[in-house]
Amino acid sequence: VIAAEAKGVSKVYGTGDSATTALSGVDLRIESGTLTAIMGPSGSGKSTLMHVFAGLDNATSGSVSIGDTDITNLNDNELTLLRRRRLGFVFQAFNLVPTLTVLGNVTLPFELDGRKPSTAELVWVRELLARLGLGMLEARRPHELSGGQQQRVAIARALAMRPQLIFADEPTGNLDSRSSREVLTLLRDLTREYAQTVVLVTHDPIAASHADRIIFIADGSIAHDVGASDAKTLS
Ligand code: ADP
Ligand code: ADP
Repeated sequence: VIAAEAKGVSKVYGTGDSATTALSGVDLRIESGTLTAIMGPSGSGKSTLMHVFAGLDNATSGSVSIGDTDITNLNDNELTLLRRRRLGFVFQAFNLVPTLTVLGNVTLPFELDGRKPSTAELVWVRELLARLGLGMLEARRPHELSGGQQQRVAIARALAMRPQLIFADEPTGNLDSRSSREVLTLLRDLTREYAQTVVLVTHDPIAASHADRIIFIADGSIAHDVGASDAKTLS
């Protein structure tokens, strides 16, 4: 099953002399239930690729699908709904709401969707919290948690609505090596246990070594696309 696909995607920012080609002719299929790492130097087009997949930026040419939905011609409202209901985001800055508890933060996606979680959804959210080692912490506020715990709350929030696809942009950038390992192992386990699909953007080869597949971007194109075990012999 294909979770997301880019076909011939190019992205040019600006026009004329100031035009910058951020992506040129990217073809990429992401299989469901996999953890894919996207690596590459600064300015190579990683963020642009993630933004185009999330419908936050329009491709200049080519097409992008999430599941069986071609998002290329969706309007802004449709894209916002797609992001809210079918995509999850985890960032380096955890973006937790300081005044809300752990449970309040994790159920925020339902509030943003204009409703309360159903009983079944609350059961799922609590299962997630337990699975992430946060079961005893649901009444705490973010400042009462370690960095690794806060990042796990952000992951729980990204998973709360069971999105088809999760984008994690440098999710371990602010964590020590032990918390990083916990978060990465967790992301990988989620792909195994819940058939969750994760796209991880990272500079960190250790982070990428947790992936099933590593895509190296250089100058807006895919330079290498390898299984994680092959990547070890490349570097
Ligand atoms: P990465 O995430 O790998 O650092 P980006 O996707 O952010 O790379 O950037 C790819 C290229 O596109 C770079 O040359 C960058 O300067 C340019 N770029 C990114 N965003 C914009 C923008 N909003 N306007 C103009 N140029 C941009
Ligand atoms: P909403 O009105 O529902 O917040 P947005 O389009 O602002 O809709 O954001 C939808 C999702 O996209 C959110 O989960 C948000 O965290 C994520 N998002 C917003 N801006 C960016 C960005 N610049 N880069 C990556 N993700 C973003």
